Amino acid sequence: PVLTSDDVRTMASEYGVKFVRLQFTDIFGVLKNVSITVEQLEKALNNELMFDGSSIEGFVRIEESDMYLHPDPSTFVVFPWRPRDGAVARLICDIYNADGTPFIGDPRYVLRRAIAEAEEMGYSMNVGPEAEFFLFHVDEEGKPTTVTHDRAGYFDMTPVDLGENARRDMVLTLQEMGFEIEASHHEVAPGQHEIDFKYSDALDIADKIVTFKFVVRTIAQRHGLHATFMPKPVFGIAGSGMHLNQSLVKDGTNAFYDPNQPNQLSQECLYYIGGLIKHAPAITAITNPTINSYKRLVSGYEAPVYIAWSYRNRSPLIRVPAKRDQSTRIELRSPDPSCNPYLALAVCLKAGLDGIKNKITPPTPCDRNIYELTPLERNELGIAVLPESLKDALHELSIDTVIADALGPHVMKRFMEAKHIEWDNYRLQVHPWELAQYLTKF
Ligand code: GLU
Ligand code: MG
Ligand code: MG
Repeated sequence: PVLTSDDVRTMASEYGVKFVRLQFTDIFGVLKNVSITVEQLEKALNNELMFDGSSIEGFVRIEESDMYLHPDPSTFVVFPWRPRDGAVARLICDIYNADGTPFIGDPRYVLRRAIAEAEEMGYSMNVGPEAEFFLFHVDEEGKPTTVTHDRAGYFDMTPVDLGENARRDMVLTLQEMGFEIEASHHEVAPGQHEIDFKYSDALDIADKIVTFKFVVRTIAQRHGLHATFMPKPVFGIAGSGMHLNQSLVKDGTNAFYDPNQPNQLSQECLYYIGGLIKHAPAITAITNPTINSYKRLVSGYEAPVYIAWSYRNRSPLIRVPAKRDQSTRIELRSPDPSCNPYLALAVCLKAGLDGIKNKITPPTPCDRNIYELTPLERNELGIAVLPESLKDALHELSIDTVIADALGPHVMKRFMEAKHIEWDNYRLQVHPWELAQYLTKF
């Protein structure tokens, strides 16, 4: 049931809400907050609250900085970890210009645009994310470390693990906030966890992903731990991905399912895969937007390196899980949780729709272990590699007009500028690895 402004008014008074946090994300997916007292709620629900957009990264310049928050009533939720007395709630907002038009640099609007395009074609997108994260200890000063005392691995039970209690608390909190948790388990690396929640439509899932990250961090902190969604915090062990299971719905049924086809995948599903594969290099800049993202996309840790798809194995970029009928979906395995989920879902959807519109046939699925193929064999199968660095990915993004169009000129420009600065900052550093290699050798 979708909440209306009236529901928000009723619930706010029922729960004794004192503060409401108005939330939105900058173009890097960082959650921003403006806290208002409940007395201001009426004004907020009437879209009258203003903020200074020039102080948000990637938004606008000083001279055009008045922006309006339009809270989405359906996102109203009370924070379960705050006191019942003087409760705190939040509303996720769309960003509008002073002239009443939606702000094109708002990531939520970027996703809304892609969703609208899908709707024109008769589709809606469902997404199920699988976000992985690490729980680390903090030092005596409360600073995060990369130390974990947990020695567990995939699906392990660990009676002594602090992380286990924290994870249970996260699941319970998320449930109280309306998440339907499907599974939670220890991941492959020590200190690494995963919590999966039920798929939903793209906008709801993007909202849920930003909420999820914020809840996981908050609850970890209350257990004296630091939760990180950094893609590869420790060299030599698995990194954290955020696989995105995707499907399209048409006329109320799963458009990726066709019982009459050999693998029960519809033609639309194949074209969607074709679109994702075609635009994979550019998409990577958005789904893997940090320097560190590319330290995860290496062989040996169940993260993809090659642009291929498969029915069975986990080494390619796209896997088609065995479930069929209404659960038919494709799993994109490259995204990591440092991405902005609004932008990530927008570019995936746009790429898939491009595949359908232009009937882009995907290459033959590759059910062999791609890591064992020689470069020559890969070449014959038409298997390319994902960008190896942020720099390469930015280049791919700069030459892909379909993906640039999905982002719109504002986000495209700001994203490119900021990410090139990030790359340059990194490039100029003298890394400890270099000192270890060269300081005494030369
Ligand atoms: N941690 C792996 C990654 O970096 C994924 C493991 C899994 O298949 O769940 O993508
Ligand atoms: Mg996993
Ligand atoms: Mg997965």
